[in-house]
Amino acid sequence: MPEPRRIVVPPQSGRSIRVSRGDLVRIIDPQGQQVADLWAFATADQLDWLSTSQTRDITERLFPGIGDHFYSAAAKPMLTLVENASPGPHDMLYPACDSALYERAGFPNHPNCRDNLMQALASEGILLPFAPDPVDLFQNSLPQPDGRLVVEASINPPGGNVTLRAEQDLLLVVTACSVDYYPTNGGVCTEIAVEITSGS
Ligand SMILES: [Zn+2]
Repeated sequence: MPEPRRIVVPPQSGRSIRVSRGDLVRIIDPQGQQVADLWAFATADQLDWLSTSQTRDITERLFPGIGDHFYSAAAKPMLTLVENASPGPHDMLYPACDSALYERAGFPNHPNCRDNLMQALASEGILLPFAPDPVDLFQNSLPQPDGRLVVEASINPPGGNVTLRAEQDLLLVVTACSVDYYPTNGGVCTEIAVEITSGS
């Protein structure tokens, strides 16, 4: 087996990663309690992107089970959840953190996942007029029994990870979430690692 390609996403930043159909993508939280936002885009023909709402609808779940797909806005399989080596939970209800969220919290000009997504896409020559909602890996924000949504501290341990298989050639963007106050990321922002194993 060849060594996987390893990309480190530094704290409060984002990276774009091109993968081929069949590649395995492992997203790792080396230090624990760090949320990773994930986006996937198909850029070959018509632009298409991972849709959390289509994925919830088609899988009839808040988050895919093992073997389930993440679907695109055009309802095409983009990724498959191959392994979940994390206690979770993972989130597919929240948007990316953005400058407005930090301004509401009293932190203007704060790094944020939305800007990091847009910068990563711009580095690939892609300008989007909107930000798709991300898959928030390791984010502990399950709906409460009374319907409230509360973000609690991630319980992902050091090294907790998920592995996905690409079902198309994809442009992925992974951000290490920028929330540096308690609770989301445990009160401290750390890096995310991504390992790509070629499927061919
Ligand atoms: Zn974020």
